[in-house]
Amino acid sequence: MSVRLSEGAIAAIMQGENISKPVLQVINTRAIATGNGPPRYRVLMSDGVNTLSSFMLATQLNSLVEEERLAAHCICQVNRFIVNSLKDGRRVVILMDLDVLKTADMVGGNIGNPVPYNEGQGQQRSSAPAANPAPSKPQQQNGNLSVAGSAAPKYHAPSKQFGKASGPSSVKTPGGSQSKVVPIASLNPYQSKWTICARVTQKGQIRTWSNSRGEGKLFSIELVDESGEIRATAFNDQADKFFPLIELNKVYYFTKGNLKTANKQYTAVKNDYEITFTNETSVVPCDDARHLPSVQFEFVSISDLENTPKDSIVDVIGICKSYEDVTKITVKSNNREVSKRNVHLMDTSGKLVTATLWGVEAEKFDGSRQPVIAIKGARVSDFGGRSLSVLSSSTVVINPDSPEAFKLRGWFDSEGQLLECASISDVRGGPATGGNTNWKTLFEAKSENLGQGDKADYFSCVGTVVHLRKENCMYQACPSQDCNKKVIDQQNGLYRCEKCDREFPDFKYRMMLLVTIADCLEYQWVTCFQESAEFILGQSAAFLGELKEKNEQAFEEVFQNANFNTYEFRIRVKLETYNDESRIKATALDVKPVNYREYSKRLITSIRKNAQLG
Ligand SMILES: [Zn+2]
Repeated sequence: MSVRLSEGAIAAIMQGENISKPVLQVINTRAIATGNGPPRYRVLMSDGVNTLSSFMLATQLNSLVEEERLAAHCICQVNRFIVNSLKDGRRVVILMDLDVLKTADMVGGNIGNPVPYNEGQGQQRSSAPAANPAPSKPQQQNGNLSVAGSAAPKYHAPSKQFGKASGPSSVKTPGGSQSKVVPIASLNPYQSKWTICARVTQKGQIRTWSNSRGEGKLFSIELVDESGEIRATAFNDQADKFFPLIELNKVYYFTKGNLKTANKQYTAVKNDYEITFTNETSVVPCDDARHLPSVQFEFVSISDLENTPKDSIVDVIGICKSYEDVTKITVKSNNREVSKRNVHLMDTSGKLVTATLWGVEAEKFDGSRQPVIAIKGARVSDFGGRSLSVLSSSTVVINPDSPEAFKLRGWFDSEGQLLECASISDVRGGPATGGNTNWKTLFEAKSENLGQGDKADYFSCVGTVVHLRKENCMYQACPSQDCNKKVIDQQNGLYRCEKCDREFPDFKYRMMLLVTIADCLEYQWVTCFQESAEFILGQSAAFLGELKEKNEQAFEEVFQNANFNTYEFRIRVKLETYNDESRIKATALDVKPVNYREYSKRLITSIRKNAQLG
């Protein structure tokens, strides 16, 4: 692979021109002392014509230097950067996102004879046009999408004009004073006077705490501008003051506040710092900020969640395949009742995951039309396989107006809904529909040796009744409630139940019917107890008992009529041993009419699978 540097790109960047994804070579990197905070790296880069030392690596990319992937001589493509003007007029280029195209080892030396770029001279422009002209469409970055908050979903492509976003080094805020607007990515604890212009992408509820040192309240918000995101928290008086002022998805100028190291345990926001509001903080609405991105998502495929560590914070998008009713549970720690609802999300990976919504979100949720749900900042739990919990800091957007959501909807409507999806969650109660039914043909159940292990196996199948054994299909059972023990006829008009240790003047009929079911390839003996047997025969056990005693021929007919009907069976299989002989015992747990709509979907899916194999 041959890589060309974007000659002239440095001059173009410094003159505020629109340039997309320049390819540059690293000449060297240098750590800058920052006190207690994470280190910041300054990077000297070359475009083959000029070098420039005022590149700063955004702290989220520090690992590139620390793992020596970004080192002298390597060539990288800068996917996103911000030009930031300092007080003295100098400019700093903050590298927000980049890919190393060629490692230092692969390159081995400096390319060309670049000379230092002199700011203010505009040199080299005419002789060296940028090698990578800006694309005509806004670029879509690696799977990121921007969706506005649930109030008014709107898709915003990342801004084309980097210069415009960061260009105005000072704005007149409605307060009247000229104050410097800086990118969120440049905030650090060593600056006290700053203003950011940012969109509120998440707003939590006011929470209270009490401990030995007293009690108080707080609420947190998440802020995004084109350079990055940051969390901010207001306590007590500030919480009272700002909570009613700040609205989700609106843009504000935020001025002054304390920056401290972020506690990553509680937040998925990609910033090493977070803001605490002080009594000097001001928040002023900004009306002209359409260029600012809204909620940023980095979606993880549902199938990848299986390999995602417990407690990771992830963004997920999926079709709500099914959902459960809202339930109330009492939280032990504060003895308060909260609403909870499980929804089952599916994406193009064909995997299903259970996500738990809480509170108002759980109560208001309507999944009846299988909406697309995007969740930012859900926590991965290992409760029952892998599941997701929506936290108070998470953002849930229903049917976001975004390319990812449209793609998913199109896929689901055409083929996704036909998929028999496997759930990676095994939450009690399970999916209401679809989910873990484990559909098999009888041939598959046998060839996969279901039931041969130590534990019983369960599967569902569609089978046709081909034989019913009417001999001994009924027995005389103890008439007391919940006791189905076979009684002994004392031949004196009384029936004895050993279990209850009582004699009764009557008994009830119970059924234990052996049925042979068949599908296209295999057959299987299945034991059907009371309800299943009554369903297959279409008569109650009591009536059948009467018939057997009084009308042998009518009894016979009931069995004949029950043949060759097709049902859905839920079957338990287990190896059982009688008289040194082991055989698989199959028991019907449930017998239902065939849902032909679902059955057809499964058949279409397996036809497609087989067509692909062929
Ligand atoms: Zn009994």
